[in-house]
Amino acid sequence: MILPIVAYGDPVLRKKAEPITKDYPKLEALLENMKETMYGAFGVGLAAPQIGLAIRIFLVDTSPFAEDDEFSEEEQEILKNFKRTFINAEILDEEGDEWAFNEGCLSIPDVREDVFRQPKIKIQYQDENFKTHTEEFDGLIARVIQHEYDHIEGILFTDKLSSLKKRLIKGKLSNISKGKIQVDYRMRFPALKKKR
Ligand SMILES: [Zn+2]
Repeated sequence: MILPIVAYGDPVLRKKAEPITKDYPKLEALLENMKETMYGAFGVGLAAPQIGLAIRIFLVDTSPFAEDDEFSEEEQEILKNFKRTFINAEILDEEGDEWAFNEGCLSIPDVREDVFRQPKIKIQYQDENFKTHTEEFDGLIARVIQHEYDHIEGILFTDKLSSLKKRLIKGKLSNISKGKIQVDYRMRFPALKKKR
């Protein structure tokens, strides 16, 4: 089932999400619905707060980037096959010189800005079977993970922009929270309390 994606301005996007246990009610169905919602909106990632739940789950699927000629064939191959569910993730370490990448977010449609992040991360998480992994990622995969991880920490990519950029997009963000925007996927707008 495709769930409505929560728009910028909803307080759930600002909560530090809580860890879950294996016994979380209907977890399998929830993960399935999150996947459907992410694919339905052509996203490369989706975090539980974006469907209104302040719990530590996010999904990443970088395959849409594999079409991008900006990347080498080898990178495209890696991006094409990277699909992962992250439960109870904690980033343990980030390193390297920050690099810029133009980010967007399903909760903030039509806003794209360059965001600076470190290129390498070490993360501990549980998969859908609650097996714990500690892994290192870099490049674009690390980038998407960092963006989704921020969601479960209550952080949005727009928080990371300069104060000038923030001022420039202020009106756009306020329109998004009021639902004054055209989107081709289901969204829920905080100021409207209505679905569409
Ligand atoms: Zn996002």
